[in-house]
Amino acid sequence: MDQLDGNLIDTDVLVVGGGSGGLMAALSAKRHGPPGTRVTLVDSWLIGRTGHTAFSNAWTIVALPGDDIDGILHEIVAGNDGIADQELVRQSLIDSHARLKDFEAMGMHFGRDEAGRYKRRPTRGLDLARVLYPEGGGLEFAWKQRLALEAEGVQLIDRLFITGLMRGASGDRIIGAVGINSRTGEFNVIKARSTIVATNAITFRSGFVRDITGTGTLLAYRAGATLRNAEFSYVRPGTPKFYFEGITFAIQEGASWVNAKGESFMQSYEPEWGDEADVPRIARAMAMENRKGNTPLYLDMSAIPEQLREYFIQSKVRWMDNFFRKLGDEAKTDMFGKTPYYALNQMTKMGIRTGADCRSDVPGLLSAGLAQAGCANHFAGFHIGLCVGNGWIAGRSAVEDLDTAPQPSLDAAEVRALHAETHQPLNEQGKAESDRILRDLQAVMFAYDIGILKREDRLQNALERVSTLSDEFKTIAAPHTHELVRMKETEAMLLAARFILGASLYRTESRLSHFREDHDQRDDNNWLVWVDLAEGGNGPAFSKTPIPTPYCSVVLPRRKPSRLAARQSVAGV
Ligand SMILES: Cc1cc2nc3c(=O)[nH]c(=O)nc-3n(C[C@H](O)[C@H](O)[C@H](O)COP(=O)(O)OP(=O)(O)OC[C@H]3O[C@@H](n4cnc5c(N)ncnc54)[C@H](O)[C@@H]3O)c2cc1C
Repeated sequence: MDQLDGNLIDTDVLVVGGGSGGLMAALSAKRHGPPGTRVTLVDSWLIGRTGHTAFSNAWTIVALPGDDIDGILHEIVAGNDGIADQELVRQSLIDSHARLKDFEAMGMHFGRDEAGRYKRRPTRGLDLARVLYPEGGGLEFAWKQRLALEAEGVQLIDRLFITGLMRGASGDRIIGAVGINSRTGEFNVIKARSTIVATNAITFRSGFVRDITGTGTLLAYRAGATLRNAEFSYVRPGTPKFYFEGITFAIQEGASWVNAKGESFMQSYEPEWGDEADVPRIARAMAMENRKGNTPLYLDMSAIPEQLREYFIQSKVRWMDNFFRKLGDEAKTDMFGKTPYYALNQMTKMGIRTGADCRSDVPGLLSAGLAQAGCANHFAGFHIGLCVGNGWIAGRSAVEDLDTAPQPSLDAAEVRALHAETHQPLNEQGKAESDRILRDLQAVMFAYDIGILKREDRLQNALERVSTLSDEFKTIAAPHTHELVRMKETEAMLLAARFILGASLYRTESRLSHFREDHDQRDDNNWLVWVDLAEGGNGPAFSKTPIPTPYCSVVLPRRKPSRLAARQSVAGV
């Protein structure tokens, strides 16, 4: 390694990404592996303090003993318009109570009432599922897991930004990864017998967490993995003024979406669910109201009783609470009427295709967290719920693979090539320009008539603009390591944009967050399938994969109060 000027780390299971998926995958690998199993978790920033997980409320859907797991499964599948891995979702729900006990053993506290029962709430768009919320939100949730991993002997490496996956001398499986220290640029090579990518989906640096840019997903693609769900997205109602995740509960207490005319508009788009519809459906309604000229849009909280209002102008999560404290006395008037809301693009749902065992098509490569394409819609509480579930499964599968995985053998030429490729954009004379390109990319991808209301001609036009930006990107350089990392992220986002637009053109129907104005009906006969994409030699090749329906054999329309009755007619549930 001296000739390569870097560090060499040797491990059994490598986990890339320290959010809820990666933290749980590392714990699971350590627990399932025989004594002495070496597990290494790396993250480009500080494990336990970064990623969506640490910034979230960490509300989590947990099925307690006695809960109707198949009923919850059914409503999650129906709320995904069928685009869900039923086996994986079901197993995650079954395991969720044991994981809750793991979290409590780590010292986390979940709210309980005076009788000692867990405090639980329903969540938007689901009826039977209930969320639990840990005290201290995501920061405590992630940090306590970090401490637990340290105690169990998992090797934690902070500030290691992964830039490539290795195939090694035999070339037939992934044998680890290479990356750079995100501050110093120092090169690292990590040899591993199983590698789990848990780097989340792709956000185009929107929202309040700006380092989720899909690099891991795209590295997996380049290493031969298939990606799926690129046409689906998570566009949530929000306001740039403050972060207010309490919308879910405010609506349960009587808040309502209204337009500039003061009309409550959700009922006309979602007659069954109205304001309690889940996020993609609200986003689409907001885009339609925008098109009708009915903006600005507000969350009318005037129906919330006075004694409950204090609850909504604070947050138990410190960074969120800062917004309210900064607003001071204004918070009350701002929250209760004055603040315009927008449909803000938070992320794509594109992830790595795996089986319900979280193994990808590429030997040695697995996936967990939102980087794994288990669902196209997660609801508030099942983002983390599924990340925890698939992390547990991925860690176990990775350890099972160790029995047959050969000792990895490095290919010096490959490492040298990856080293050169990683540092290639560095040039002290360069200017930091990736953010300018990103802003242009955001303008393309966040436009309502591209990201929410889609049509062939506009998608084609957007593809051309992304292609122009990709050409421009090739001409810029990175004057220092910080910009080098940003360039790698921008490159990933440009590629992701291409995939999102391509998959959106490919799926010629409307379903869930994918709404094609020129194909505005859901078409189960032809499109109850996953859209997969893999490198076809000259760019991505798209294909359909039928979705297995072992538990919900028919995907019924979502109906609120009658859902339980409808469920009885579903075979297997
Ligand atoms: C403000 C906010 C509130 C939310 N609240 C909730 C909630 O209450 N309940 C719920 O279910 N969901 C919630 N969500 C969504 C949920 O937090 C996420 O979907 C979930 O945490 C994703 O977990 P993950 O492990 O997939 O990714 P993350 O937690 O984002 O972790 C991915 C990690 O990968 C690292 N990484 C990325 N690329 C690389 C690379 N190339 N090399 C090394 N490391 C890399 C990142 O630094 C990051 O730490 C919320 C999201 C936000 C932003």
